[in-house]
Amino acid sequence: MNVTRLIQKKRDGEPLTAEELSALVTGYVSGAVPEYQVAALAMAIYFQGMEDSEIAALTEALMESGECLDWTGVDGSRVDKHSTGGQGDKVSLVLAPLAACCGLRVPMVAGRGLGPTGGTIDKLEAIPGFRTGLGAGEIRRMTEEVGCVIASQGGEFAPADGKLYALRDVTATVASVPLITASIMSKKLAEGLDALALDIKWGSGAFMKDIESARSLGAAMTAVGERMGVRTGFLVTDMNQPLGRAVGNANEVLEALAALGGDGPEDLMEVVYELGSRMLTAAGCSDDTASARAVLEAELGSGRPLEKFREMARAQGGDPEADLELAPACEVGAPRAGYVSAIDGEALGYALIALGGGRRSLEDTIDPSVGLQMRVRLGDEVVQGQPLADLLSAGTGHDEALAFVAGAMSITDEPPSELPTLIVKDC
Ligand code: URA
Repeated sequence: MNVTRLIQKKRDGEPLTAEELSALVTGYVSGAVPEYQVAALAMAIYFQGMEDSEIAALTEALMESGECLDWTGVDGSRVDKHSTGGQGDKVSLVLAPLAACCGLRVPMVAGRGLGPTGGTIDKLEAIPGFRTGLGAGEIRRMTEEVGCVIASQGGEFAPADGKLYALRDVTATVASVPLITASIMSKKLAEGLDALALDIKWGSGAFMKDIESARSLGAAMTAVGERMGVRTGFLVTDMNQPLGRAVGNANEVLEALAALGGDGPEDLMEVVYELGSRMLTAAGCSDDTASARAVLEAELGSGRPLEKFREMARAQGGDPEADLELAPACEVGAPRAGYVSAIDGEALGYALIALGGGRRSLEDTIDPSVGLQMRVRLGDEVVQGQPLADLLSAGTGHDEALAFVAGAMSITDEPPSELPTLIVKDC
């Protein structure tokens, strides 16, 4: 393989073949292809894009660099969801046990938070003893026995993507739809799924800042999933303000437990039901999303999903009855009267990092007790001094976090002319 020639091809807008992409990934993992050549290729992809067939081939090559779950002999449909991430997104914690109670098998492999968006694994690890570093055999067994499992990506799933993502991170090539698609889908498809529902976030706190970019990413990911034999669908959902009220780790688990007990915030539940409906219909368990939603709502009302969450936590070594400690709360007041007209989600994410509840780099450790509790929503009218949010602060980075939260909240004389739609239905 002449790697320089392949870089040249992509630089000049020619597609690469599946064999070329596979050889490149194999050579990259073995060290035969140096990082500087892969960096140059990533930059060429960033500018030239990729055809659907190339994205699928890259996804497959990344996926095949590691373990793929084998479900031979296991009954039932394996279905998962994936979110591109934002602040307060605890949907997986509610939806995995709820979907399992509706008869699906959910072998969820999730990520840790990095930068301003949180990660499902960090949230679950706020539960004492909860073990997320599971091997393929354990994931398979627990999915069979419990119905759902949430494990961390670790090194065994798509390790080539781990190496490539770290390289993209330092070469300004993360924000590329083909590369994001192959990266996320290689890990999700390694789960051996029958169906996948994608939650593509757009807005101030999301990776994708506008609806159109979110739609393009959703369409590219759906095309790859379908090409690889997985029934895939996507929703575009709003991330111009946190989902629910809690942003952090232990406080998000508490909000998710409340949601499983039937007392979840409306916006969170709406995303849970819409994604869950797509999971059930894609798996063939419901004829349409309306009947699927009725099943999900009835199941949540039964109390069984809360018990299923506890069962999953125990199976993974966690103590679901433990009291989760929260850091002391400190109010952030409105600097003036007016209307909450914009919330900078990314700044809220940086506030969480400052408090020690998020990561600047993957080696950082997390304090699960810190976080933010939002007290207002977009469009709310506030008086001067009214609490906009509570900082759950253990002292570290308190002033920096306060400045981030204060700067994130725009208060204006007039209410916003339009509030973002939570779920964009016309995808
Ligand atoms: N998350 C991933 O796993 N990969 C990307 O490329 C972007 C976000």
